Amino acid sequence: MAGLLCDGPTGLYLSCLDPRTAAEVAQVPVQALELVGDRVQQAREAGLAWRERPLAARKQAVAALHQAFLEAGPRIVALLAEECGRPAGEAWTSEVVANHDLFQWWLSQIDDLLISLPLDLSPINYPRKTGRVQLDAVGVIGLISPWNLPVAIPLRAIVPALLAGNAVVWKPSEHSPRTAELLLELMRGCLPEGLVQVVQGDGRWGQAVIDAGVDAVFFTGSVRTGRAVNLRCAERFLPCSLELGGKDAAIVLADADLDRAVEGIAWAAFAFGGQNCAAIERCFVHASIYPSFLAKLKARVERLRPLRDVGPLITPAQLALVQEHVAEALAGGATLVCGGGAPGPGWFHEPTVLADVSPTMRLMREESFGPLLPIRSFDDLDEAIRLADETPYALTASVWTRDLDLGETIGLGLRAGVVTVNNHAFTGALPQGTWGGPGETGGGVTNSRFALYHMVRPRTVVVDALSQPHEMWWFPYNEALERLSRGLIELQREGGAKLPGLRGALSGFTARWKDL
Ligand code: NAD
Repeated sequence: MAGLLCDGPTGLYLSCLDPRTAAEVAQVPVQALELVGDRVQQAREAGLAWRERPLAARKQAVAALHQAFLEAGPRIVALLAEECGRPAGEAWTSEVVANHDLFQWWLSQIDDLLISLPLDLSPINYPRKTGRVQLDAVGVIGLISPWNLPVAIPLRAIVPALLAGNAVVWKPSEHSPRTAELLLELMRGCLPEGLVQVVQGDGRWGQAVIDAGVDAVFFTGSVRTGRAVNLRCAERFLPCSLELGGKDAAIVLADADLDRAVEGIAWAAFAFGGQNCAAIERCFVHASIYPSFLAKLKARVERLRPLRDVGPLITPAQLALVQEHVAEALAGGATLVCGGGAPGPGWFHEPTVLADVSPTMRLMREESFGPLLPIRSFDDLDEAIRLADETPYALTASVWTRDLDLGETIGLGLRAGVVTVNNHAFTGALPQGTWGGPGETGGGVTNSRFALYHMVRPRTVVVDALSQPHEMWWFPYNEALERLSRGLIELQREGGAKLPGLRGALSGFTARWKDL
């Protein structure tokens, strides 16, 4: 078996390596691929009863999960350290506090968001008909998630999906199976049996979830995998939401609050060890402040503490990629401002700032997904904007300036799904806002009512109160129908909907229609 998937005396398992030490710390059993179909079937059966429950009852169960989740905060933080090398401060803010907001927001909003929308039907054209668009659960949602926010990313789909009446079959990353087991344990205490299924394994198990008859797919991960997932879903006509990579840019204008910009950009570049889809991976700084920005940034980054502030990379392969990006940039003439080494422990790489980079270097074009911050100065703002947009990704971008209006104007001109002024990346934690961007970022939407719309199917229901025996548009087509159509248009152009008696006249007409 390849990679983390191993075949032991008791069957398949995932070997869990602590990236801080590279040592195996646990093993998680993996079920046979052939059983994935059964899991989807079990979820479907549990989901049928779940969607029949009143929304208040579904909310009650999800609220219980919310409480269990908060109680489990210390366990989640400890596990994230071991599984992803996540510093405790980061795990608390990004994976516990942010998810508390997530539960609260969806629980407080879901009644309004799921409300049926009445059809505003013209009483002239559609007499005595009433209708609505109601939002039905899609059924079983296939969720395939990455390792880098192994609690927040799946919960952003699971919480609204459940509230909307869906079941979920979740394939977590093979690099974070234990957090998935912990979340499943919490769910078992609060949700009906089988409603959320966890399928452990590598990419083949993800593919099997897509093939096993789910009704929609939510995928977060790399562009390469996202493309394969998208194609597979297309073959099955499965709605598919894709949240893929990023190569975020920050533009620092001459009037920026330098201290804040340095603090904020250092955080957004090096949080999660740079392994964040919305990490700042390219920074453009106005030439007039370039030297002072670099000096301050160097001082700040050199104070970051290994494993306390910045965690390790997740795999040796990811470490090797980061090292390649650094070596190639240095060979191409970039200046090393600070960092550059990979002294360990485990797969730790120093937070690294490179100045005077060229736009053609790999670390300016490809997602590094590591603790690298390449910086380039600019004189001409248009040139900085052009370079910021020169990427197939379009997740988030930020502008740093004291001129808030100008910052917003520049931001809105950038090709990015999320734009921030004097801040970066934290917006993924806002359940009210949208997350996601076009291009190779995948075009999906996470968070907000717009994410919910991927988890429900709008269904139109119209009831006719048997007001008349015959509709005007039914057969036969004849001269009278044409005259009536012309008349209706004339009347409506003159505000005829308000004319008294018109509705009765029309009913009378259609009642005699067949005889005309
Ligand atoms: P990945 O693409 O390697 O894996 C993601 C998931 O897909 C895993 O569960 C994996 O097992 C599964 N998978 C692999 N091959 C598959 C296949 N053929 N069919 C179905 N499933 C398959 O990504 P990763 O390394 O876990 O995560 C890092 C990537 O995710 C980065 O590119 C990052 O930018 C991106 N990401 C994006 C967002 C976002 O919101 N846009 C958030 C987090 C991470």
